[in-house]
Amino acid sequence: MFVPGLIERKRDGGALAAAEWRELLTAYQAGTVPDYQISALLMACFLKGLTREETAGLLDGMMASGSRLDFGGLGRPVLDKHSTGGVGDKVSLILAPLVAACGVAVPMMSGRGLGHTGGTLDKLESIPGFRTDLSLEQTRAQVERIGCAMIGQTPEIAPVDKKLYALRDVTATVECVPLIAASIMSKKLAEGLNGLVLDVKQGSGAFITDAERSMTLAKTMIELGEDRGCPTVALLTAMDRPLGRACGNALEAEEAIMGLRGEGPQDLHEVTIAESVEMLVLAGEKDRARAKQRLEDALKSGKAAETFQKIIEAQGGNPAVVDDPALLPQAEAVEVYYARATGTILRVEPRAIGRAVVEMGGGRRKVEDAVDPTVGFVITARPGQKVHTSEPLASIFAHDAAGIELGRKALDAAIEIGEGKATALPLLQARVTAKGVEQLAGR
Ligand code: URA
Repeated sequence: MFVPGLIERKRDGGALAAAEWRELLTAYQAGTVPDYQISALLMACFLKGLTREETAGLLDGMMASGSRLDFGGLGRPVLDKHSTGGVGDKVSLILAPLVAACGVAVPMMSGRGLGHTGGTLDKLESIPGFRTDLSLEQTRAQVERIGCAMIGQTPEIAPVDKKLYALRDVTATVECVPLIAASIMSKKLAEGLNGLVLDVKQGSGAFITDAERSMTLAKTMIELGEDRGCPTVALLTAMDRPLGRACGNALEAEEAIMGLRGEGPQDLHEVTIAESVEMLVLAGEKDRARAKQRLEDALKSGKAAETFQKIIEAQGGNPAVVDDPALLPQAEAVEVYYARATGTILRVEPRAIGRAVVEMGGGRRKVEDAVDPTVGFVITARPGQKVHTSEPLASIFAHDAAGIELGRKALDAAIEIGEGKATALPLLQARVTAKGVEQLAGR
């Protein structure tokens, strides 16, 4: 294989055949193609795009680099959910135990914080003792026993995606629809699922901020899933403000626990229920209203919270945090943030908030950085809300006074107060399936 020829073809707008993708990725994984050639190819992909066949070839090459989970004989449908990433998005922490409590097997595989977005693994690991590095064998055994495991990408799952992703992260080639679609789906399809629900975020806090491109991302992932026998549904949801109130790992874990008790913020509840309904329907529930009722019952009865306790215990964490969230790590410094003016909240900009959490120590600037689970924000201000000067809008949680100062400046920039009308995206915008697009906004 002559790699410069492949790069040249891609650079000039041509396409690589599926067999070429496969051979190239096999060689890359074996270490016989260097990072600099793959980096150049990724940039050519970023600039020229990939055809449908190429995206499929890339995906199949990524999947072939690892193993596939086999849940055959489990006697329960196996489903997962994936979010394309946002700020304050702690849905997975509620949804996985909730859907498992309704009888579905959920081998949830998640990622770490990336850029300005938070990661489910970091949120889970804020629970003292919680381990996310289970092997595939341990994952299968736990799913069999309690219906759910919440893990990171194991070395067996699409390892070449992990290498490619690390390269994309440092070569400005993340925000590319076919590369994102193949990357996400390579991991999800390796879980051997009977169905997948995707939460495709839209708005300034999402990776793909443009509405048309987020729809393309949803459709591309659906096509990849359906073509490989995995029924896939996507919900397009708002990420032009944080989801819920808490942003930061332990704060989000606490809010998720409140959500599991049915005491969380309304927007978080709505998105969680909407995605969970899709999972139950994919798992065979015929009646959407009954699916919703089953989920609400599991929250109300305490069964969902109990399932979360079992997951925490099985993965080495302290299950008592579900009854007493004060056992989660607590910030050294806390300060209330007050409105600087009277008027209407026009925007609560999620990207500035996500970036501030990272800068305050709650995310990584380098792969090897440790994460401070305690830092972040609880923001009660919502777009459209009328406020008065000196009214409390948020709390800042930091390691020290410098962190508080950083947090205050970030909120000054993120929370815009003025005259006029706030323009927020509808929380649930569209439901996308292989059959087409159903608009949800305004229903
Ligand atoms: N998450 C992934 O797993 N891959 C991407 O490319 C982007 C987000």
